[in-house]
Parts: sequence; C-alpha cells; structure tokens
Amino acid sequence: MLTDTTATYRARWLFPVDRPPIKNGVVGVTNGRITSVRTFKLGDAVTDLGDVALLPGFINAHAHLEFSLLKEPLGQAGMPFADWIGEVVAYRRGLATSGTDLADDVRRATEAGLRESSDTETAAIGEIATAHWPADCFETCNEIRGTVFLELLGLAPERIEPLFHSAVQHVAADRQSSFRRGLSPHAPYTVHPDLLRRVCQLSDEKQIPLAMHLAESTAELELLRSQCGPLVERLKELGAWHSGSVPRGLRPLDYLDMLSAAHQVLVIHGNFLVREEMDFIAARRDRMTVVYCPRTQAYFPHGEYPLAEMFACGVRVAVGTDSRASNPDLSILSELRHIARHHPAIEPEEILKLGTLCSAEALGLAEQLGTLSPGKLAAFALAPLSEAESDPYESLFQGEGMT
Ligand SMILES: [Zn+2]
Repeated sequence: MLTDTTATYRARWLFPVDRPPIKNGVVGVTNGRITSVRTFKLGDAVTDLGDVALLPGFINAHAHLEFSLLKEPLGQAGMPFADWIGEVVAYRRGLATSGTDLADDVRRATEAGLRESSDTETAAIGEIATAHWPADCFETCNEIRGTVFLELLGLAPERIEPLFHSAVQHVAADRQSSFRRGLSPHAPYTVHPDLLRRVCQLSDEKQIPLAMHLAESTAELELLRSQCGPLVERLKELGAWHSGSVPRGLRPLDYLDMLSAAHQVLVIHGNFLVREEMDFIAARRDRMTVVYCPRTQAYFPHGEYPLAEMFACGVRVAVGTDSRASNPDLSILSELRHIARHHPAIEPEEILKLGTLCSAEALGLAEQLGTLSPGKLAAFALAPLSEAESDPYESLFQGEGMT
C-alpha cells in the first residue's frame, strides 16, 4: 500500500468514491494527507503509477485473523453451517492441545493476517480477537488501523460474570492507538442474553462499538425458534449447549432490539434478516450496520444474499472477509468483484462504496479513510485494470489479482 508522506501520483483511473472516476487522474499528498484530487495537466511533475486504478485503501469490516495461517477453508464448500462450526471448534481445540504455545500460534496467525491485509491494500480492519490476541501487533501496526473486538463466548449462566469482567478489562485497556477497542458478543447461540444486555449497557456507557454475528444460518433461526435442530445437536456434542439460557421463540429482531441499546453495532452477516428487521436497522443507520461477507456467505448453502432488499430498505451495508476458515483469502477487492458478479442489478459505484466509504463509516473512520478527499489520510489501494478500455468499473471489477 502506498503511504508516502509527500508525493504526487498519476494513475490511469482514480476512484475517489464520493464522485465519479477520474481518467488520467492525479492525487497530491503532503505530510501523509491528501491535498488534491484532479485530472492530470501537461507539465505536472508526478510519480506515474501507470495503467492502474488508484483508490482509497480498502476497509475490511469483519475478520478473524487467528485463522490466517489456514491454506484453505475448513471443511468443504456447500457444507451445512452447523457442521462447519464443529470444524472451527475442533481446529481451536486442536491448537490448544497441540503442545505448542497457543499465544504464539495466535500471534503468528495474526501477523500473517495483518501482512496479507496490507498486501491486499487494506487500510482498516474490524478484527474479532480471542483471549490470546497479541495487542502489540495492532498497537505497533503503522499501515492498518481499525477496531479490535474482544470475542465473548458463553451460554452458561456461570460464565456471565467472568466474561463481563474480561469485557470491562478489555475496554479499560484502550491505549488510543491506531486500533480502538470494541466487544463482540459472538452470536445468539453462544452468548447468554443477560450477558448481552450488560455488554450493550457497557457499550453505551463507554461509547465503544459492538459486533455480533446474527441471522447467519437457518439452523440459528431454528435454534432460536424452537431450541432444536442441527445447531443445537452440534452444540450438545461440543458440550456448549445450555438449554434454558435462551428463551424459546426468539427472532433476530429480539436481538436487534437488545443491540439497539448499544453505542455502535456491527450486525455480522444478516444472511436471513427479514424486511421488518432490515427496517429496524435502517431506522438506526447512524448506529447500526450490516456487514456482508460475500464469499463466506457463498461458502454455505445460504441461498442468495438479500443485498438489493437491504439497499431498498436503506440499511447501511459494509463488507468483510470473515476469516480464512470460510474464505480463501482476505482481499476486499475480491469480495467486491464477487458482489459485481453475483448482484448485477447493483450499481458498480454502490458496490465500490461498500468496501470503502460504508465500511469506514461502520468502523467510525470515515473522517480519515474511505474516499480520496483532501484532508483524509494518504492510505491508497492500487489495483490492476483489465485490458479493455471500457467502463472504469468494469475494468476494475473484471481485473484479476492485486498490483
Ligand atoms: Zn465472523
């Protein structure tokens, strides 16, 4: 990623995001901030980047970097979600009992994930971290900023107090570095509702963001509705199900209602949100964002993602890669290309916004990142363009790989 402090760059296409693409464009940088965005003029002294697209650095609103050493996703494409959860738990338990130092394993994976994110032109990440997360990797990371959401996992009533204590400690240790701190009550099937309510209250009091997986699979909806189905069976096998912790007959809407008490919320996935739930989120779009993880969604038999319906309702949608446990890599540009292929009715400028401006807004970073605008950080993404001298978006989304 380009991060020179003072320079003038020229590229075949600039994509400012908040206005139309500029052919043969120039962007000026002074002291690490963008100073100008315009068309090339004869006589301009520039660093010519050539036949490429210059964009604001991509924003990955949802990742779990602890899985970044995986060469390929866990399980097989098309597998039931509940079976994949079993694979994830087995992977984590395998690491924990492998005899190696677990904290060291998580550190190596996180370092690899940050490196890969930088290599794929990512300027910010919404990272879900577990107990062994290496804080210094984030606090000393110069190229990438974002939020580290501490994952909270536990359905049993006796887990509420210790998990809430760790949440308070995580938030209190915020060092105002390039990474803020947030909390991630994992999902309705892994978090006691009483813990969720307390965490939402803490989020409001301390003004910190939350991220929660919600409406991800039909198995989750069945679990909430009737406390049975494949996810309940899988959680029982794993010793992670506590009947009675989750009241019968809940819907994602009940969780959205609880989450609406929080300061800022990322609703991760939302694959099976219904109209009423989208309306609920859209009515709070300054505080609630749905994070679509395109290739992870497509890894499971979830059907078509309701992106057009979300747009129609006015939901703010961000984009994330999720992890290498369900995705081949951590490239946001690849996610956007997937959206362009699978949602041809969505305008390409809207697709580009998802992985830049909308995701920056979702992470509270829109004043610094997300568009090529004077005053914002000079954190740029470079991307190859396809050969055809056609529509710039087609050229961007049909290109392959990174620079
Ligand atoms: Zn996730």
